[in-house]
Amino acid sequence: MKKDFLDILCCPVCKGDLELKIYKEENNEIIEGEFYCKKCKKNYPIKDGIPDLLPR
Ligand SMILES: [Zn+2]
Repeated sequence: MKKDFLDILCCPVCKGDLELKIYKEENNEIIEGEFYCKKCKKNYPIKDGIPDLLPR
């Protein structure tokens, strides 16, 4: 996932801002990490470069 995407991503539940934790990145792309919504207190993982932003 390109870091550029960060600007357009928001929490799927509350549309709030997401906090990003990067665990692994290559060539300005996030390979593994995690989004966190402070309002919902939910984590959304990024695996193999694909953000999983489905609400659960
Ligand atoms: Zn939220």
